[in-house]
Parts: sequence; structure tokens; C-alpha cells
Amino acid sequence: MRALDRVFGQISADEVVELTRALVRIPSVYRPGETGANEAEVASFVEGWFRREGLPVEVQEVAPGRPNVLSWIGEKGPGRRCLLLEGHTDVVTEGDAAEWTWPPFGGELRDGRIYGRGAADMKSGLAAAMVTLAAFKRAGVTPAGKLVVGALVDEEDGMIGVRHLVKTPAGRELDAAIICEPEENELCLEQRGVVWARIRARGHMAHGAMPEAGANPITALGALLREVPALEKQLRKLCQKSRHLKPPTVTPTIVQGPPRGVGAPQSNVIPALAEMTLDVRLTPGIDAEGMRGELEALCRKAEAAVPGVKLEWEPVNAFRLATSVDKAEPIAQAMMHGVRKATGRAPRYGGVPGSTDGTILRMELGIPIVTCGPGNRLIPHQVDEYVEVRELVEAAKIYAASALKYLEQ
Ligand SMILES: [Zn+2]
Repeated sequence: MRALDRVFGQISADEVVELTRALVRIPSVYRPGETGANEAEVASFVEGWFRREGLPVEVQEVAPGRPNVLSWIGEKGPGRRCLLLEGHTDVVTEGDAAEWTWPPFGGELRDGRIYGRGAADMKSGLAAAMVTLAAFKRAGVTPAGKLVVGALVDEEDGMIGVRHLVKTPAGRELDAAIICEPEENELCLEQRGVVWARIRARGHMAHGAMPEAGANPITALGALLREVPALEKQLRKLCQKSRHLKPPTVTPTIVQGPPRGVGAPQSNVIPALAEMTLDVRLTPGIDAEGMRGELEALCRKAEAAVPGVKLEWEPVNAFRLATSVDKAEPIAQAMMHGVRKATGRAPRYGGVPGSTDGTILRMELGIPIVTCGPGNRLIPHQVDEYVEVRELVEAAKIYAASALKYLEQ
């Protein structure tokens, strides 16, 4: 039997489903300061699962209670590539559990769907990747290169898991990655970027009855807000149009004057400081320098409108620019082949609306990434999050066929 058929023979729908449910049942919302509210338990489950399969494991302690878990088969060497199947173990908060039809950490299986926080984003994608790796091992198929599964921490916040990985030998040897995030098993070669710009306005404190005695930082932020539509228009001009991504947007998400922790707000006091955050989403086409220039210009315009107020800005969690991978890249080619082998149909294409761990892999390592995984793209972070069971086994087969193809070249 051919290698791929042997690997396929070791991928069972029931197993991916039960593994997904088991992962969903381990709550892994990170809540700073709360004992046990982190990825430790789910990471240890993943580690134990790989070890029982007889696979090697590397545990990277990224922060206390927050380990990355890596497992692999095969070896990297001259002319031998290394491919990562990437997943994250953290999930966002379930919110008000009473609003859920089934318990958010119950892993309920109903009418061909698994319900629960993380069902789509992305314990199902992780489960599919884990079963793929185990299937190689069980089938006795060692790929020509190295196939790695990475279960990383903290994707939903500062992405410290992937930022740690790229600085380690295991990260530096990667040649490409498949990001197993929920994209309805579409091949996503592009993803939007995000820049959170925190803008701080510094004026002069004064009595609200005598505004002429002060310089009002809130008025300056008002002037800045009036410039936001123009900035959005400008970014749409600078960035490329994409069939699969929404155009750039600039959205104010936080306005505080005075900022939290800097004195108490009072109705008759003009504060010395005010702060605002802009959530900027990008398509490919603008680099970090270009983005910096636009934000600088925005601040200078608002400053000019309100004499006596100074504005400065800083990126929160660093720039995460949009990414794009050419269809001619070997990993993209291998995945097109993989989808056909696994599903018998032509690949469908999509785009990733937000940023993922893949953004960091692309920016820091320069490697090509393709995002493809089970789950509706719009369902993450919602109440009654679910994943379609039929997409699970399909994802595992896509990963297996793509990996075999990419590594044999
Ligand atoms: Zn995710």
C-alpha cells in the first residue's frame, strides 16, 4: 500500500472527535493571578497523549504554568525540510455560562457538531494535527523530512508562546507552517494584519470653568478622531486590494481621560492626560516604516489643532503586519495537492480576518505559512461555539497528505 493510504488508514473520525471533546473539557482560559487558570492542564494532557503514542516530546516552559508542547516524527537534514502543524492551547473566556445552550466546557456532541469554548478555536484543529502525527507513527511511515506538531500557549493575548518558539532551535529549523485555525478547511494564503496604536495626549490641567487656563488633551483626541476616516482612506490606497480580505479599517476602541491609574476623573477638571487606542487592521502592502509614518502624521495633525497639547503613540504588542504567501510556494502547492487527495475536490480559498500565531512565524522567521483548519470562521469567541464533525477528519487528512507531499520534495 502507498504511504499516504497507510497514513489515511490510521486516521479515524471517531478518534479526532473524541480527542477534540477531551480537549474542550479542559478549560484553558488564561486568567492572570488565578491559580490553575492557564494552559498547564491541557498542555500536560497533550504531552501525555504524545508520549503514549511513543512520540518524542519537547516541553518549553514559556512562563509559569504556560508550557509549549512540541512533538515530531522524522528528521531535518540537508535537503530535508521541517514543517510545523501549529495550534494553540488557550481559549478565550466563556463569558456568561448561563447564556450557553450546553455547558461551555462540556464538549457536547449533538447533530454532527461538537459544542464548547475552543471547539472551533481551536482544539479541533489541534486534535486533527495530533491525530495526523500519530497516524504517521502508527502506519510506520517516516516522512522524508521532519513533521512537527506545536501546541502553543497564549495565542489569544500577547502570543508569548510563538514568540518564545521562534527564538529556540525547534523554531529556527522550521521551513514552513500550516496554521490549523478555523477556516472551514479553506486554504488561506493571506491574513490581515493588526496594529494597536496607543496614543497619549499630554496637556495642562485646569479648572473646567476656565478652559483658557489649560490645554485640553481630550479636545486633542477629538481632533484626532476627526482624522480617522481620512487615515482609513489613505491606508486603503496604500494597501493592496484582496479578494479574500476585507479592506483596511481604523477603529477607535478605548478612550480615557484621565487614563486609568492616573488620577481620578472629575467633572470640573481638565485632566493633564488623555489616552486612546486605535485598532488598525491591514491588508498586505504597507511595511512597519510606512505604518509608523502614518501614525506620526496623524498625531502631528491633532497637535496642530489644539495648541499646548503634545501627542505621542506606541504600538501595543508590537506591529503584526498582514501576511501573504505566493501560490507558487512549495507549501501552498503541497496543500493544493493535499486537499485534492484528502477530499477529492479542488481547494477552496479564503483569507484570515485577524492575526494568528502564523503572523509571528512569518514576520520573525520569514517562513511561508498557510492557514487551514476545521470550524466556521465567524464562530470563534461566540456563545455556543461549535465545530462540524465532518470537517475534523477532513482536516486531519488534508494535513497528512500535504505534509507527505511537502516533505518528500
Ligand atoms: Zn485561534
